[in-house]
Amino acid sequence: MIQPQMPETKNWRFHRDVENLGWLTMDTPGAPVNTLSRQAIMELEQLVERFEELAQTGELVGVILLSGKDSGFIAGADVSEFDAMSDFSVLPEALKRTHALFARIEALKIPMVAGIHGFCLGGGLELALACHYRVVVNDDKTRIGFPEVNLGIFPGFGGTGRSIRQAGPVDAMGIMLTGRMLKAGAAKGMNLVDKLVRHRDMLAWEARKAVLQKRKAVGAAPFQKLMAMGPLRSYVVGKMRDQAGKKARKEHYPAPFALIDLFEKHGDDWKAMIRGEIDAFVPLMGSDTASNLRRVFFASEALKKQGTKGVKFARVHVIGAGVMGGDIAAWCALRGMSVTLQDLDMERIKPALDRGKKLFKKRLKKKHEVDAAVLRLEADPEGKGVGRADVIIEAVVEKLEVKQSIFGGLEDRLKPGAILATNTSSIELERIAEKLKAPERLIGLHFFNPVAQLPLVEVIRSTFNTDAEIGKGAAFALAIGKSPVVVKSAPGFLVNRVLMPYMLGAVERVERGESKELLDAAAMAFGMPMGPIELMDTVGLDVGKSVATELGHAVPEGSKFDALVKAGKLGRKTGEGFYKWVDGKAQKGETPAHADLAGLGRELVKPLVDMTEVVVAEGVVANEGLADIGVILGTGFAPFLGGPLKARKDGKA
Ligand code: NAD
Repeated sequence: MIQPQMPETKNWRFHRDVENLGWLTMDTPGAPVNTLSRQAIMELEQLVERFEELAQTGELVGVILLSGKDSGFIAGADVSEFDAMSDFSVLPEALKRTHALFARIEALKIPMVAGIHGFCLGGGLELALACHYRVVVNDDKTRIGFPEVNLGIFPGFGGTGRSIRQAGPVDAMGIMLTGRMLKAGAAKGMNLVDKLVRHRDMLAWEARKAVLQKRKAVGAAPFQKLMAMGPLRSYVVGKMRDQAGKKARKEHYPAPFALIDLFEKHGDDWKAMIRGEIDAFVPLMGSDTASNLRRVFFASEALKKQGTKGVKFARVHVIGAGVMGGDIAAWCALRGMSVTLQDLDMERIKPALDRGKKLFKKRLKKKHEVDAAVLRLEADPEGKGVGRADVIIEAVVEKLEVKQSIFGGLEDRLKPGAILATNTSSIELERIAEKLKAPERLIGLHFFNPVAQLPLVEVIRSTFNTDAEIGKGAAFALAIGKSPVVVKSAPGFLVNRVLMPYMLGAVERVERGESKELLDAAAMAFGMPMGPIELMDTVGLDVGKSVATELGHAVPEGSKFDALVKAGKLGRKTGEGFYKWVDGKAQKGETPAHADLAGLGRELVKPLVDMTEVVVAEGVVANEGLADIGVILGTGFAPFLGGPLKARKDGKA
């Protein structure tokens, strides 16, 4: 088969078959996922130019775009180029060039069909939307969406207009504003893609048929488009602004609001929407928010590269089925591990199993998957699972002697190489480990409450540990989908140490008569996800008091805080703390007016930032970047500021 003359490319492979069908495969060199780098886009320009010529002469009847990676189609634009691209002098030109390229693909005289498996995100989805038809594998791995808002931007390669053209304004704006990833069925339901196949090996055949039959995707239904017309659009825009405002503040995260503004102007004309995209996109890309969110993105990605490679974890044994142990066990079962859960008796284990089942139902939904997870989580009052476990996590009461005696009784029964971990929040690891024959085996795996919601696990390193145990601990955290940050065994570790002075500072102000509503509102205006008093109520006043005491900030006798604890008003869990709680919501009174709410918030957050500096200076975490990402993941500290230390450097905290 004679092949046409094609340009040399590094990111793409092309061949033409006997039917004159062109097979274009994307394969980003040296990377596990495909990304649309500048180089890939420039190479695609040259390829498309050839497609135009070959179409003209009848030497090519269509093009099928596939991915050469197992991970998926295209994960998006290359974020590592964004810093350089955010320069105002290059970005508009680069965007215009990509817009022109995608328009040329759309205008090709022959069909171009995308065959999609796995991740098809951001710029990858925008390219797929510029093709004439989209075939998608309908399995659990397919993920389709626009995660751009998480990086402080919105789709900039024409995806705003093209997604609206296909899915209609409400659904398209919904996925762009939330960054939500869709499974294949949902994407098809929205008309974002056109045809589902069951397996990846059916993609080529179905895409070939689509080309030969000259299939062309049909746009959104007329009734869907109505929502972008006339007064209905103002109504939809109002709703979108309300929703976006509930999730984030415009001054912190401008991207969703800028996208809504663009839609308000051009929502009824997808081509105008695309034309307006560049002007609205450029300032976002260059904003501090976007640059800080990229920093957070890279730091989170770096966390995933830690840990010993190649270690497999199949069985976990958890001792203590209370608030933490029960939830840690359920989380591990949810993530596919076989888990045995031990406590003093069956009655204490049962509530944890029930909570686990609720979690499985919520997260897994399908009955057979829920049933399988329920079977993976096994009550084990006698601790029979110890000898088989790859990981043992202790989460019993916070008492040194109890922990010491538990570990003393375990040591001779362990499988060689098994991880031995405690979830203690305040006891130095060295003290728990000192009676062990091999004290280097014990590490800390410090989870946060609620386990299912908080992504951070502090991997605590004692003076006995070597890199081997810590590397395995980090690998385990990653295996259950958590983000590990390695922290030295020092009181409060990282997160509790920095949170306490911030929360106690606010409590002290309430003791002096300041409004708790005002303080909470101020912290949120600064960028915290929740105010310090509401947070104290959520953590539990008893837990807060004991951590405070451990860290040397004893709660004064006779204080309001002390009185609440003594009265059993422990916060959210008892229905009352500083606030009254109804249906999991703090009942807040009026917030007094304040001239500079964000300024007050900044004052409140200062002790947290100061303490983060101390923690880094003491070497509790290895560097500033890790401290920033640890505090973001563990406390929700304003990601748009890039973390406490970055915020201070920028003069914002
Ligand atoms: P909890 O009181 O809810 O649960 C402790 C469980 O341990 C109880 O069910 C108890 O019956 C069981 N237990 C006690 N002695 C035992 C023994 N000898 N063998 C087996 N089980 C035994 O406590 P929790 O809040 O889940 O805390 C557990 C650990 O996690 C503590 O070390 C705590 O510091 C730490 N921690 C707690 C939080 C939190 O927010 N609650 C967060 C991070 C870490």
